[in-house]
Amino acid sequence: MATLKDLRGDAPTWCPGCGHFSIMAGIQKAIIQLGYEPHEFAIISGIGCSGKVSEYVRTNGFHTIHGRSVPVAQGVKMGNPKLKVIASGGDGDGYGIGLGHFIHASRRNIDMSYIVMDNNIYGLTKGQTSPRSEHGFVTKTTKDGNKEYPVDPVSTAVANGATFVAQGFAGDIKQMVDIIQRAIEHEGFSHVNIFSPCVTFNKINTYDFYKEKLVHFDKPFETRNEALSKIKEHEGMVTGVLYEEKRDDFQRKLAIDFDMQPALSEEMDKELYHKFEK
Ligand code: SF4
Ligand code: MG
Repeated sequence: MATLKDLRGDAPTWCPGCGHFSIMAGIQKAIIQLGYEPHEFAIISGIGCSGKVSEYVRTNGFHTIHGRSVPVAQGVKMGNPKLKVIASGGDGDGYGIGLGHFIHASRRNIDMSYIVMDNNIYGLTKGQTSPRSEHGFVTKTTKDGNKEYPVDPVSTAVANGATFVAQGFAGDIKQMVDIIQRAIEHEGFSHVNIFSPCVTFNKINTYDFYKEKLVHFDKPFETRNEALSKIKEHEGMVTGVLYEEKRDDFQRKLAIDFDMQPALSEEMDKELYHKFEK
């Protein structure tokens, strides 16, 4: 079982107070509490302040290119199904250039987790409007206010078939760790969007902003339609596991439908062994 010391990588260079610290700690805590060893994980990150997480949490890791953490993570999982795989990145990375990958991963259902550090801005490049910035949001690239409306990440995941969709807040570590643990243990693609205030460049979406607005739901909604309607009703300001469904993940389906037996986990090996046993 990993300890915090085992999971500590390079010293973070994030600004003091950045929400990403909590998310990093949340990932470490979830791995420790679930009783895994560092070598059983691979963390694949994109580009942005958030992208540094694969260097700061010491497991197998790959700091990839902008918007591509999800396809690389899917490849890692296909190559070594025994690894627990986490893709991580920011809202600019995942919901801008990486949006297509996110949608396809949602419908494909490869067994991995996608944790997005959502700060509604491009932080690393010093504060431009991102695909998650609110309508009217003023930055140096949108001096008269953002003319566009933000991507709704959790609704996108629910609408496109993701089998686990959740949302957390960097200001509530206990709740976030519980969500990350459940996402890691979910068999299939799990999407977790985490509100992570950028204290340096975003003076709108602050810790206080989220504390005032967020509504928590203790249980997942029963149907996709119910989840979509509740997310809309609260304008996306919801936390908790919002939708969960049990469905064979992509590799399990390949193995069963085509009688292929890739290098599966011991448990899956055993299940398939009994299925194909004559
Ligand atoms: Fe965090 Fe923003 Fe600083 Fe980047 S610029 S480390 S997102 S506070
Ligand atoms: Mg961002």
